[in-house]
Amino acid sequence: MQEKIRLLKELQAIDQELQKVCQGRQALEKEQASLGSETDRIRAMIESLTAELDKLREERRTLQLALEQEEQNIRRSEGHLPSIKTQKEYVAVLKEIDTAKKLNKDLQDRIQTKDGEISNLSRDREEKEQELAELQAKVADRLEEISQLLAEYDAQTGTQINDRDSLFDQLPVSLRKRYQLLFERRGGLAVVEARNGTCSGCNMHLPPQLFNNLFTVQEIQSCPHCNRLLYVKVLM
Ligand SMILES: [Zn+2]
Repeated sequence: MQEKIRLLKELQAIDQELQKVCQGRQALEKEQASLGSETDRIRAMIESLTAELDKLREERRTLQLALEQEEQNIRRSEGHLPSIKTQKEYVAVLKEIDTAKKLNKDLQDRIQTKDGEISNLSRDREEKEQELAELQAKVADRLEEISQLLAEYDAQTGTQINDRDSLFDQLPVSLRKRYQLLFERRGGLAVVEARNGTCSGCNMHLPPQLFNNLFTVQEIQSCPHCNRLLYVKVLM
């Protein structure tokens, strides 16, 4: 009984360490997977800013062409003025020129507004590109760190798993199953001390007869409340 308990306690200690390492590994792997998502988000933002900028530039180009066309019309009309014979026709052309100039003023205002929008968006995009570059550098550093930590974990657990397996193999088959199941279902605590008549796993009082048996009976006893395997500290 003492030998089995000693094996179980040693096994549990290693299993608890392995479990911690396993949780650490999982957290790192999760982080590893999530690191790309922020850079993807910024990259998508840059793409949409670029599309918006292209659209604004195209709109500006169209306005610019319209402006040049109107300026040409004005020059042509002004060129005709000296050759106009009647006052009526002269006034009509002057009016035409005036309207065209107003239209041009409007086109110039719209072009100026577009220029403002374009320069704002360009600045936003530059900021995002800067942000992306910085983030990518950080992500690369962290990925490097993570892969080192994972390698360290692997090196550390390699020997522990061997030790664990050889302890496990020394236990009777029926006890292996009980231990394994309890370790999984009772939060990594399958073997616990019974102290002052109480199970230290669930803190419930043990029946006095059972507690007394722990000192004498050769079979390993289970807590009637949480089923954990019990042992008592025996003074040698
Ligand atoms: Zn218990």
